[in-house]
Amino acid sequence: MLLRTTILSLLFFCSGLLGAADGYPENELKIRISIYRDLSRLAVTTYGKVYVTELKTGNRFLLLENANYEIRGSDSKYLYIGKQKLLSPIKLNTPDGNNFLKINSRKYKGEIRLINCEDSTLNAIEEIPFEKYLYGVLVSEMGPGWPLEALKAQAVASRTYAARFINPLKDYDMTDDVSHQVYSGLEKVSSDIIEAVNSTKGEVLVYNKKLVNAFFHACCGGHTTSPGSAWGDVITKPLRGVSDPYCKTSRHYKWDMFLKNSDLLSFIQKMGSTALKIKSLKPYSKDKSGRIVRLSFSTDRGSFKAEMKELRKHFGTYDFKSTFISRIEKKSNGYLFSGRGWGHGVGMCQEGAKGLAKKRQNYKKILNFYYPGSKTADITGVLK
Ligand SMILES: [Zn+2]
Repeated sequence: MLLRTTILSLLFFCSGLLGAADGYPENELKIRISIYRDLSRLAVTTYGKVYVTELKTGNRFLLLENANYEIRGSDSKYLYIGKQKLLSPIKLNTPDGNNFLKINSRKYKGEIRLINCEDSTLNAIEEIPFEKYLYGVLVSEMGPGWPLEALKAQAVASRTYAARFINPLKDYDMTDDVSHQVYSGLEKVSSDIIEAVNSTKGEVLVYNKKLVNAFFHACCGGHTTSPGSAWGDVITKPLRGVSDPYCKTSRHYKWDMFLKNSDLLSFIQKMGSTALKIKSLKPYSKDKSGRIVRLSFSTDRGSFKAEMKELRKHFGTYDFKSTFISRIEKKSNGYLFSGRGWGHGVGMCQEGAKGLAKKRQNYKKILNFYYPGSKTADITGVLK
């Protein structure tokens, strides 16, 4: 991940406490995203002006333009940019305009806070205006070129989803990966994505005046499910499973995956079974949408039940795309799973949103289809 180039020049010019303004207005709602965690070093490249500020002293420096730096953690309260020792935490920021910086492989604008964790690792947190953050989410979670109304539905769903995590009492609000929603900086932002976010500015989904848990997924395979079925969560409204005929043309709608007996045996042994041989397997329980909740394995040591979500996690959620299994076929040395959809199946089906948009449904209709009974509201009236 690190740049191959050696560190250029020995830093900065001290610019005192004054300097160019940060990239974004102070009064805009912002969100803090953890973009790198627990790394011993980071590679930073400047494209134009980048300032460095020690947050505890207020000392501010200007990095050389178009230069490469290596930032390292330490086992004390300091971190290093090249050979320069700085008191942690520090802030990197770009003045507005064409200035930006690259950290490892991704480009960022605005404000990045770097914290030395005293176990010689670094955490990087980007503070970015909430609406601009959504540009980056849409790039990763849907992508340029999707129908505009689907992008707008995604913008409202992602805004709603993220708003629930804003918490000034924590070090950061969200991570940038699939454990929340994917965000990879503002590269590749396109005009349709900007339009989708700007034209729905501040709009969130509410149910009984509270923010909806606006989950979404790639493709439901014909029926969405509830969080109760997927994870055992008690929050269900307005998330209940809906029949979805709009994602049928998706390439994720149907899939097959073959699993060898030996791999399935390793899985149940990991889950606690003492079996040495699997004789057969079948669904043990299903949710209302038809997704398998538990699988039953008949083995040489009796029957063993395993959670389907654990099976999916074990074999990888990219290959084993969902728990929505329509058929399990026994083969000579394993089992062929025929499945539908990709993802947990809760909330908005992105492929279905695309299908609805192609049928000229607007984003509010799309959102109401997947989050029945919800309404749009302005975020300022919902966030306290
Ligand atoms: Zn669907």
